[in-house]
Amino acid sequence: MKNVLVIGGGIAGMTVANALAEKKDIKVTVVTDSPYYFAGPSRPLILTNEQRYSRTIRGYEESGKRGIKVVFGHVTKVSPENREVIMSETTTSNFSKTKISYDYLVVAPGVTFDGSAINGYEKFWYNNTTVYDPGRVHVLKERIWNLNSGKVIVYAPKAPYRCAPAPTETALLLYTILKFKGVQDKVEIVHIDANDKTQPPVIADVVSKIYEKAGIKLVTNQEITEIGDNYVVTKSGEKYNFDVLAMLEPNRAPKFVEEAGLGKTWMDIRGPQDLRHPKYDDIFSAGDIANLPFPKNQEIAFETANFAANKILETESLPKNPVQYAFIGWAYMGNIEGKLETISVRFGLDFSTQPPKPSKDTEPKKEYTVQKDNWEQAYLDRLFGYKYQN
Ligand SMILES: Cc1cc2nc3c(=O)[nH]c(=O)nc-3n(C[C@H](O)[C@H](O)[C@H](O)COP(=O)(O)OP(=O)(O)OC[C@H]3O[C@@H](n4cnc5c(N)ncnc54)[C@H](O)[C@@H]3O)c2cc1C
Repeated sequence: MKNVLVIGGGIAGMTVANALAEKKDIKVTVVTDSPYYFAGPSRPLILTNEQRYSRTIRGYEESGKRGIKVVFGHVTKVSPENREVIMSETTTSNFSKTKISYDYLVVAPGVTFDGSAINGYEKFWYNNTTVYDPGRVHVLKERIWNLNSGKVIVYAPKAPYRCAPAPTETALLLYTILKFKGVQDKVEIVHIDANDKTQPPVIADVVSKIYEKAGIKLVTNQEITEIGDNYVVTKSGEKYNFDVLAMLEPNRAPKFVEEAGLGKTWMDIRGPQDLRHPKYDDIFSAGDIANLPFPKNQEIAFETANFAANKILETESLPKNPVQYAFIGWAYMGNIEGKLETISVRFGLDFSTQPPKPSKDTEPKKEYTVQKDNWEQAYLDRLFGYKYQN
């Protein structure tokens, strides 16, 4: 019997677990730090009351029934030489040991949001909120709904970061709320972007047209290097005051990856289709943590996870699952008429052709917001084994 240990019970981790569950002579254990999973893609719609948490949360119990062992613990160390993982306790405990050994390890804990390189962040972190975290999005919601005049700063760090369009989605949803309240003329929104265009580049032209109509100011090629009590400073020395700050911190892999010699900012891999670590045949990465030449999003996370699972199946002489790199995405454009009814654009990239083939529909539609919801729910249903009940 081969023990496959997966770190992280998110999109990538649960994809690997489902691909390997009930396979002959394979036992899958997922160690994850919380007894439930919050999906990310529709989280920005919490701001406009178009999404409820209850629809995006899933527990692991039905996966347990499928034969996937899920252990609640926070991984703090990987020891490749001893083939074991060390974890600390979390609020829910269903496992008595702190060490788990493995024959194959799949590292899929997603990303860490790290503001520590920004001067003043340690002191003024509380000024910042983002849509990226279930708790912090609520703070942002409270701040924007209470804002009647002043300035909002939205920030995207250098790519790659998790979910390319989310900073733009944030700016447009915040604008929608201000317009809904009738105070849009008294609040200036500035989107500062460390990249030369809003991300993903494939829809940057659509975004800049909508920003122009909404009067959202876009500043590109500028990293935020300092945060103070009510201001940020960019690399060029420009100072921007704010009343509300929605800054996505630079993303990286959790520290245990670097400490185990598995990579620095991201986890090292042999290539997009062979996600083994260059030094270790038994260690894989999957999802946002992998150092891939692709955007960090849910579909890519799912695909990396299938490639990782396939390599394990191949090594164990078991049949593989079909998979290729391509994704389709929907970006919320808010509703610049001020209705709390978000319209979205659709875009995609097919990496199975060279050069990769982009596609997009630049006409924002309500239908695309609905498609994104259906897509998110389909992933959750499939990976966690049950549907949301109204
Ligand atoms: C606001 C937001 C909007 C997004 N929008 C889109 C979108 O529109 N389209 C799209 O395709 N993608 C979108 N994404 C991105 C998508 O959610 C991620 O790319 C995807 O979830 C990555 O999967 P993952 O398995 O790598 O990480 P995750 O799904 O985050 O899973 C990681 C899991 O590991 C656990 N974990 C972390 N550290 C540890 C540890 N040390 N020990 C144990 N467990 C640990 C976490 O709690 C989590 O359950 C969005 C994400 C967010 C947050």
